[in-house]
Amino acid sequence: MGKPTGFKEILRELPKDRSPKERLSDWNEFHEHMPEKKLQEQGARCMDCGIPFCHSGTLLAGMAQGCPINNLIPEWNDLVYRGLWREALDRLHKTNNFPEFTGRVCPAPCEGSCVLGISEPAVTIKNIEASIIDKGFDEGWVKAQAPKKRTGKKVAVVGSGPAGLSAAAQLNRAGHSVTVFERADRIGGLLMYGIPNPKLDKKIVQRRVDLLTEEGVQFVTNTEVGKNYPADKLLKEFDATALCGGATKPRDLPAEGRNLKGIHFAMEFLHANTKSLLDNGGRTTSGELISAKGLDVIVIGGGDTGTDCVGTSMRHGCKSLIQLEILPKPPFERASDNPWPQWPKVYKMDYGQEEAAAVFGEDPRQYLVTVKRFVGDDMGRLKAIEIVRIEWQKDEQGRFIPKQIPGTEKLLPAQLALLAMGFLGPEEAVLKALNVEQDERSNAKAEHGKFETNIEGIFAAGDMRRGQSLVVWAINEGRGCARAIDQYLMGQSDLPS
Ligand SMILES: Cc1cc2nc3c(=O)[nH]c(=O)nc-3n(C[C@H](O)[C@H](O)[C@H](O)COP(=O)(O)OP(=O)(O)OC[C@H]3O[C@@H](n4cnc5c(N)ncnc54)[C@H](O)[C@@H]3O)c2cc1C
Ligand code: SF4
Repeated sequence: MGKPTGFKEILRELPKDRSPKERLSDWNEFHEHMPEKKLQEQGARCMDCGIPFCHSGTLLAGMAQGCPINNLIPEWNDLVYRGLWREALDRLHKTNNFPEFTGRVCPAPCEGSCVLGISEPAVTIKNIEASIIDKGFDEGWVKAQAPKKRTGKKVAVVGSGPAGLSAAAQLNRAGHSVTVFERADRIGGLLMYGIPNPKLDKKIVQRRVDLLTEEGVQFVTNTEVGKNYPADKLLKEFDATALCGGATKPRDLPAEGRNLKGIHFAMEFLHANTKSLLDNGGRTTSGELISAKGLDVIVIGGGDTGTDCVGTSMRHGCKSLIQLEILPKPPFERASDNPWPQWPKVYKMDYGQEEAAAVFGEDPRQYLVTVKRFVGDDMGRLKAIEIVRIEWQKDEQGRFIPKQIPGTEKLLPAQLALLAMGFLGPEEAVLKALNVEQDERSNAKAEHGKFETNIEGIFAAGDMRRGQSLVVWAINEGRGCARAIDQYLMGQSDLPS
């Protein structure tokens, strides 16, 4: 700790985001950078508290607390304070293959468990992380590092999201020849086609993919293992396989009128938007686009995916926007059953809600409501959604279930409905083709830490193993899976888990 009294003297400060109205006119990232001197001051707020809860990721009450990839946070905070940026970058890369992704999109469970956060606002860990890696790229310090020797072993990675990419990066580092298969036309999984450009610029994803290519990783796009690439060929041609196909099966809403035109899964909307943006040099003009322009939009689901639908609809120029959430509005402060160092479940305005509020005057979220039915016109197109208020009641088994409150029905105009109610698990074709056992939630069955499935030489990681989660957990799993595969192939491994 460079400055023992830093936390007493310096207040938490983040760079200002671009104003909601300004950023709605483009698809660029909304975060601004902070001057170096200010970042050094923010690094000085770290207390080097002795037991840094921020850097050891564990699950508490079913949620991550602390950094799931055990980033050496107090060390790089101190290095940043002392202006030793290159050393900070080296420390950061020891535990994280892709800090430019987590520094932008991670919800930062580390900050929720920061010891300073017990009495003062937490250290700005995530922003410091993003600043270290951005400076690393700006200065030309981040370079491809191909392995000096090859082992002669071949490994296939199925899926190119953060789990597949981190597994590929680590396995390649260990000298194995890695081929990543991706069914989409671009590499990156949900980093590319899920999280929208304003949150994570696709040039930043591509920059890392290019580095991995330079290091020797082979990428094969438009290839779905189990469909247009036979699964048994994989077994014959590779010494081991990492299944990192994500958990992309969306939860549906089987209400009356579900088949009307104008009702889409969130991922159809978001994928088409980013593809259109990338195919058309930054403009969303392609025929595949599902446009919200001039429409009354209702987003069903209050999580990250819903927020991304809100931000995207706002950029299209929707006429009105409402976001429905079945859960109650969270409290402004931690509730007594949600103490530090747990992830704080408190009310927040994310970028999409800020933008909707700037244009329409209020937070677009309505809480404790659900859809009763979709209402169509004579042409079979959505024209309204009937919603109803709910209350959570306990059933005989003591489980909370939503009960509709009669008489609270309301009709809302809507020509576009986006279903963002979470994901049920992985798409199963590849698992079935390889006879991989699935757990009770339909995920690939493999123990965290071992990652091997019931089929010898086939490993699973990321959302495909743990269910829809976070980028930082996908990196944790990809790295762990790479170590397990290296051990399987070589009898031992020097890769960190
Ligand atoms: C809209 C949205 C926004 C999100 N926002 C955030 C956020 O802000 N912060 C955060 O931390 N997390 C966020 N998440 C969650 C996060 O993106 C995921 O947890 C993470 O990407 C999972 O990584 P993965 O590598 O396991 O899978 P994915 O990123 O889902 O990648 C899996 C890849 O495998 C490919 N694939 C599947 N089957 C096959 C096959 N048979 N052959 C070839 N390829 C195949 C898929 O096409 C896909 O590209 C978000 C998720 C969504 C949907
Ligand atoms: S990866 Fe996430 S949890 Fe870890 S230090 Fe970065 S922001 Fe915090």
